[in-house]
Amino acid sequence: MQEDVRNLIAATKKQLEHLRVLGVEGIREPEGTARTDYVERATPVVAPRPEPVKPPVPIENVPAAKPVTSLFGDIAPAPVKLTPSTETFEQIHAEIGDCTRCPLHLERTHVVHTEGNRKARLMFVGEAPGADEDIQSRPFVGRAGQLLTKIIEAIGMKREEVLIGNVNRCRPPGNRAPTTEEATTCKPYLLREIAIVQPKVIVVLGNTAMKNLLDTREGITRLRGRFQDYKGIKVMPTFHPAYLLRDPSKKRETWEDLKMVRDYLDSHP
Ligand code: URA
Repeated sequence: MQEDVRNLIAATKKQLEHLRVLGVEGIREPEGTARTDYVERATPVVAPRPEPVKPPVPIENVPAAKPVTSLFGDIAPAPVKLTPSTETFEQIHAEIGDCTRCPLHLERTHVVHTEGNRKARLMFVGEAPGADEDIQSRPFVGRAGQLLTKIIEAIGMKREEVLIGNVNRCRPPGNRAPTTEEATTCKPYLLREIAIVQPKVIVVLGNTAMKNLLDTREGITRLRGRFQDYKGIKVMPTFHPAYLLRDPSKKRETWEDLKMVRDYLDSHP
């Protein structure tokens, strides 16, 4: 027996010497068997650090393509495309619920959700509900809304064919423009609806809607009538119908903008 133990010790020493020559500086003891009372620990083997966990990229922001190198070697940012959403409007509206996320809830009567054809090729986005919309719980049903309906019909479509929504779903007191904070709180729900429907064209009505959808500092007068891009969707900025009611001379430019939208839709069936 003693002979066996001696042989075992000798073999172990030989193995350890072999490992030392190979550069091994210590051996980790199996979990739970480490003793601390009578031996000095061998040099601990340092376990590799785990890779830091990256936060997930929201799917709607995943770049669609690699950066494009221009003729002159500048790197243009990769275009960001919307990916199809599996959500439903009902889920989003249920999540919004009896919303109290921003101060606009204090004076509203109803939350006004996006309405219309959920397979629409054309969408209109306004700023926020007015008094009539707040009472009826529907977007663009007041005087400005009636003019919007006429604009839609002027390009040969019916109101039921398109989708109509607002950046904010609660009426700002006195019809003031929503603050940046109020718009930032509410806008994600609109963007999620856009990701579901993925219309071919979005017409943004007026400065507030345009700035919020396009994240731009440019004014409506400069950008109206020129197609912009929201994640692969064509965006046409034009005047808000409430502005047209105050200054009917601007209807001519709005008509030009909407004809471009009609022509784009006709040539992209
Ligand atoms: N103005 C808007 O911007 N939206 C409406 O729904 C009504 C008026």
